[in-house]
Amino acid sequence: MSKLIDLTDRSSDQWIKMGESEMQTPVREKTLDFDIAVIGGGMAGICSAVSAARNGSKVVLVQDRAVLGGNASSEVRVIVHGVTKLKSGLPERETGIIEEILLLNRFCNEQHSFTVWDHVLYDYVTREPNITLIMNTQAVRAVTEDSKIVSALCWQMTTETLITINAELFIDCSGDGLLAATSGAIYRTGREGKAEFNEKYAPDEPDGWQMGATILLSSKDMGKPMPFKAPPFTIKFDADKTHTDRRIIPFVEGFWWVEVGSNNDIIKDAEVDMHRLMGFAYGVWDYVKNSGEFPEANSFALDWVGSLPGRRESRRFMGDYILKESDQLSHKIFEDAVAFGGWPLDEHNPGGIENLSQPPSFWHEHFDRVYQIPFRSLYSKNISNLLFAGRNVSQTHVALSSSRVMGTCATMGQAVGTAAALCVKKKVVPRELANNHIKELQEQLLRDDAFIPERLADDVNDLAKTANKIWASSTTSGDVKLLIDGVSRDEQGEVHHWKSNGLNAEVIFEWDEPISLSQVEIKCDTNVKKNIMMLKNTRENDAYTTIIPPELLKSMSLQVIINGDWEDYGEIKNNQKRLIKFSFDEVLTKGFKFILHDTYGAENVKLYEVRAYK
Ligand SMILES: Cc1cc2nc3c(=O)[nH]c(=O)nc-3n(C[C@H](O)[C@H](O)[C@H](O)COP(=O)(O)OP(=O)(O)OC[C@H]3O[C@@H](n4cnc5c(N)ncnc54)[C@H](O)[C@@H]3O)c2cc1C
Repeated sequence: MSKLIDLTDRSSDQWIKMGESEMQTPVREKTLDFDIAVIGGGMAGICSAVSAARNGSKVVLVQDRAVLGGNASSEVRVIVHGVTKLKSGLPERETGIIEEILLLNRFCNEQHSFTVWDHVLYDYVTREPNITLIMNTQAVRAVTEDSKIVSALCWQMTTETLITINAELFIDCSGDGLLAATSGAIYRTGREGKAEFNEKYAPDEPDGWQMGATILLSSKDMGKPMPFKAPPFTIKFDADKTHTDRRIIPFVEGFWWVEVGSNNDIIKDAEVDMHRLMGFAYGVWDYVKNSGEFPEANSFALDWVGSLPGRRESRRFMGDYILKESDQLSHKIFEDAVAFGGWPLDEHNPGGIENLSQPPSFWHEHFDRVYQIPFRSLYSKNISNLLFAGRNVSQTHVALSSSRVMGTCATMGQAVGTAAALCVKKKVVPRELANNHIKELQEQLLRDDAFIPERLADDVNDLAKTANKIWASSTTSGDVKLLIDGVSRDEQGEVHHWKSNGLNAEVIFEWDEPISLSQVEIKCDTNVKKNIMMLKNTRENDAYTTIIPPELLKSMSLQVIINGDWEDYGEIKNNQKRLIKFSFDEVLTKGFKFILHDTYGAENVKLYEVRAYK
């Protein structure tokens, strides 16, 4: 504490304004108050801040870099995977906030540029009126009282300013969790031994091994021979000794297995590792260019090389529940499920690129379907107002090997942001929310288009369920009555949609007696069985699309029955989202209808859910 307070003592720092002979001591300290402070602007932190803000809280998002996105940013350039590699080869894509972001990127960044993506994220966050975004600022220390964080002390590098952030709740989405660690929140690092959680992929004995950090690179075809001379810091890549899983082709997108882990303190080692990773990355590129094994690389040159190693693992904060391998493999049903995952158990080898004989990842198992993540793994067991989302949550090392991908981190982010906003409204801490209000949290998440596997939405306030008559102008598959069945995707082979036969199409909800109505919401189709994230090596196939999903509803209008006549109550053109909302002054009505005009290419329109509220 005392050392940090000394940081603000600038009495020996005199700022002299030339010409006016004015001299002053710079005062660079400020205090800000919020409901919720989110630390770390990676995909988990962004989704957390946006969901908390949309659910009514005053939120600050503190990010220590100049760009948002964490490992997905242009600084590191990791692809946002989630449930993208099921055994079928197809995804079970995340919806909610992360999908909104990926769709926005489709509309704004057809060129798949990482630096444009940084600003898509910036645009997305700064559109939210309830979010204050503070960049280039590291949360360095928690101030606590009675096992509760009262403030985060933050250092803004660009302004030499100590910012004290007071908040009701703190959400640590920083990956490494410096704020949470300094609050005294209990955490683990390294690998659990097999016996502790009966994990078949854990080592026999616990140890300190943590998966490593990586520097990525990309190259481009210059259309002419491009010689490459390795700089002196290059570390030779011994291709003869490497396991064949260290694949070189396609070399345009870099090598995720240029990885250095740690059996010690991966955070303390970061700067040493950065230098080694630079050497290893250039070593592999030297092999590509100069070994003679890849004549097709003759005209390729480095286009970008990362300088900030992306990290996969460090602290995991302990909650009321520790997610483990068997929960994932058995698809355990949690009463407090709020998020989901399904990336394979992709545990990287201890040693990384320094352990060439082993495969870079063991890829222990692929999942055939998704698994649930409980809310009790997303808040601290001993710091009462601390939540977390991302790779730092309460789970074992083996469980992390699957859940660390950013689409999955994003679902946790939306869950904790929504939870924190509910805590603020109800004046409770996360554990009380888990014990007494979990259904309310799940209902809000489902309404906001988060997917919770095998959990039906059952919102008592949803008037659509009370309609006496629901009908559609045409149908090719599904049933219009499925729009109120509580499931907003086709799940495990079961149909939960209605699909039109041609366009325009109409869907009508009618009541025998008038109801008060002021909001209607629909969930349309984006094809969750196709990936839409930005790739470095773009491809169009069964699992990926590089275009705006043709299934997405493009334009539609809403009519409401007023005194027996259909009246226009709203119109949407060039829609960019799966969840479409209409709000209007409350009316007494016996019905409403959607007129569905157009998609981004599909012949028919598909819907998954309709809700109505007053
Ligand atoms: C090379 C590599 C390849 C990978 N491959 C994939 C892949 O293909 N797909 C995939 O989805 N995942 C992949 N992963 C894993 C994934 O990137 C991470 O697990 C994921 O980024 C974790 O998300 P997060 O939001 O918890 O953390 P991050 O993405 O690290 O975001 C945290 C953010 O918080 C900021 N921060 C940290 N400390 C502070 C602080 N004290 N104050 C303020 N801000 C702070 C950081 O700068 C960062 O921007 C890969 C990782 C690496 C390194």
